[in-house]
Amino acid sequence: MSIAENMAAIRARMARAALAAGRDPAEILLVGASKMNGAAACREAIAAGIDALGENRVQEMTAKLAENAYDGAPLHFIGHLQRNKVRQVVGRAALIQSVGSLELLTEIDRQAEKLSLVQDVLLEVNIGGEESKSGFAPDGLYAAAETARTFSHVCVRGLMTIPPVEAVPHGNLPYFEKVAQLYVDISRNLYDNGFKYLSMGMSGDFEDAISAGATMVRVGSAIFGHRQYQH
Ligand SMILES: *Cc1c(COP(=O)(O)O)cnc(C)c1O
Repeated sequence: MSIAENMAAIRARMARAALAAGRDPAEILLVGASKMNGAAACREAIAAGIDALGENRVQEMTAKLAENAYDGAPLHFIGHLQRNKVRQVVGRAALIQSVGSLELLTEIDRQAEKLSLVQDVLLEVNIGGEESKSGFAPDGLYAAAETARTFSHVCVRGLMTIPPVEAVPHGNLPYFEKVAQLYVDISRNLYDNGFKYLSMGMSGDFEDAISAGATMVRVGSAIFGHRQYQH
């Protein structure tokens, strides 16, 4: 199957999930998680109409930018971001989805100010409370979103989450529903209902994420095929 065929199949599944939940399929964006796939694969996805491409590693993103891999689609940063690499991402990524601490938010604001721009971000929620994952604890999210409003060079556009690895089919649905509730509450109470993006769901569970309210799914292997991890 080609990237275009995979994307058509995923779009059809997204539309079915949206309609089953009484939602408009057009309101849900498909982000291609293109890590470990080269510039040619990125271009194929763009030609087939991907809504955005998401990268996980700054080094890989920088190399692919130099190859013009993302021309024609917005670039998102979706991976763990170290503070000392923020400078390489601000202003290059249209959306930094993985902001999981106030320290990181502060540094993004500082670098964005230097470039005289406002960086769009999502706050990442560690909904499973996993040690191994970054992100705000659900308890601390409201306060973080409130603080974020005081920064003048970042704009919080919504939330992102990566739930625990599913143990059983539909195991992540309760996590998705919790994050969707936080999204609605915070958007309504702090952001004048201005949130746009609820980013959740990957190859194995994007339909459940959509039924819970995702407006953006991040799909990698179901578009690009299985990644060859190098050790
Ligand atoms: C790789 C990745 C995805 C996509 O994962 P698949 O299971 O391959 O669809 C989504 N989000 C993030 C943050 C990722 O790193």
